[in-house]
Amino acid sequence: DFDHVLEALLNTSMDIDSLEPDTVLEERWVKEVLTRSGMKFRSAKLYETRERPNRDTHRRPPADPANLRPRPPVVTIMGHVDHGKTTLLDSLRKSQIVSTEHGGITQHIGAFLVKLPTGEKITFLDTPGHAAFSSMRARGANATDIVILVVAADDGVMNQTVESIQHAKNAKVPIIVAVNKCDKPQADPQRVKQELLAYDVVCEEFGGDVQAIHVSALKGDNLMALAEATVALAEVMEVKAEPSGLVEGLIIESRTDKGKGPLSTVIIQRGTLKRGCVLVAGKSWAKVRFLFDENGQTLKEAGPSVAVEVVGWKDLPSAGELLLEVESEQRAREVVDWRTYEEEQEKLREEQSAIEQKQKLHLDEYKKEREKLSSLGWRKRKAAIYQANKLKYAMRDSEKMQSSEPQLPLVIKGDVDGSVEAILNILDSYDAEEQCQLHVLHFGIGDVSENDVNMADTFRGSIYGFNVKASKSIVQLAEQRGVPLKLHNIIYKMVDELKEELSSKLPPDV
Ligand code: GDP
Repeated sequence: DFDHVLEALLNTSMDIDSLEPDTVLEERWVKEVLTRSGMKFRSAKLYETRERPNRDTHRRPPADPANLRPRPPVVTIMGHVDHGKTTLLDSLRKSQIVSTEHGGITQHIGAFLVKLPTGEKITFLDTPGHAAFSSMRARGANATDIVILVVAADDGVMNQTVESIQHAKNAKVPIIVAVNKCDKPQADPQRVKQELLAYDVVCEEFGGDVQAIHVSALKGDNLMALAEATVALAEVMEVKAEPSGLVEGLIIESRTDKGKGPLSTVIIQRGTLKRGCVLVAGKSWAKVRFLFDENGQTLKEAGPSVAVEVVGWKDLPSAGELLLEVESEQRAREVVDWRTYEEEQEKLREEQSAIEQKQKLHLDEYKKEREKLSSLGWRKRKAAIYQANKLKYAMRDSEKMQSSEPQLPLVIKGDVDGSVEAILNILDSYDAEEQCQLHVLHFGIGDVSENDVNMADTFRGSIYGFNVKASKSIVQLAEQRGVPLKLHNIIYKMVDELKEELSSKLPPDV
């Protein structure tokens, strides 16, 4: 019965030849065995994953409320094209240049800090469009506390205005409306606020809680009122963070600077970043050499909500990636290694399902072969045993594959039973005395077939044929798949070549 046969095949100590040949040809266990053998071979590394302790690093649990301190809100400006986002950002930035003693050139680093005369601060993200906002949202990260929605008073609510509202609502980020271009004679701020009602943005004068400030980004009118409204909202929201402990943050931009090398702008969300800190983000890590603000000034440290340029990355991290501080360089390497390893495992899993696809193909071939065999009448029994032996070999092989010794998977084809057997005997004796493992994936009589190539390809093996042929299309297929295909008419030459290939797989010191 099925279980008995399966048991016999999985337990290679049992002799398959003792089984009734007709049961041997049951399709369901062939399928089972093929799947199991393939799975076993490919899964060796996957099992390893489960046993290895998780070497990744993650955000810390939420801070004790007693350790939270107010921090500046982080603001993203959104709105329809041409409604004045860039102009607003420029005016806000300019308002700062005048007041800094350096008075120099501000660089675009993806964010900048605005200081109010009252001492409060706001961090503005100025990555063009919603790009930063969207890519971070896509990664489940959110750096923004408040969205300032710019709506031109002469144009009203447009489709990107609606999109921006949607983005903010999905991210559960509150909105402040900047009714812009109020300096224009045709400006109609009232209409803007009325139109917003349709999108559930209810301004204060309609009984809602959304602040709307009438501004002119171009002339700089009322920008202070906009900033004050932002600070007031942040206070209501109780925007806070823990300034101590391991740093957590987000990458908002990355670039390579000619002088400074790989750079990223990060926004700190927790802890205080200092020179010498070791950081990981995605599969990159850094030992912080320098911190720069948007004025190109070096900073000693950067606390929550501050955006800083970080110098010291080994590779460039991507925007939107989570930034985490770790205790040591050793730990950073470990985390990066782990993440790289995990990614490889993911690839392996994909490869494995590709192999399973291929195995289905083998089964179809097998069915065809079986139909042919049953028409042969008296030879049926012998053929069945032969097939079962092939499977047994494949099984043994997949087990051997799990060992770390160098391996040479083989498909052997011969003209008659006797020659195949002779080759197998020679190989068996060689196998025993060498440290390289031979794996006969498949052996059989007749010309090299597509199935042979499939099999060798799946297990990255070679095909050796003795006194057999391979059609042009098979030779081509083998070439395409990179499967070595060797045909011989003199047995000792073939065995010599085999031994040579085998020796080439041995480590040089053996
Ligand atoms: P963005 O596409 O939203 O970044 O819009 P821009 O900031 O590039 O502004 C588009 C146009 O509107 C530019 O020609 C600006 O000079 C103009 N603009 C922006 N803000 C104002 C404003 O407050 N008043 C007036 N009159 N024009 C403005």
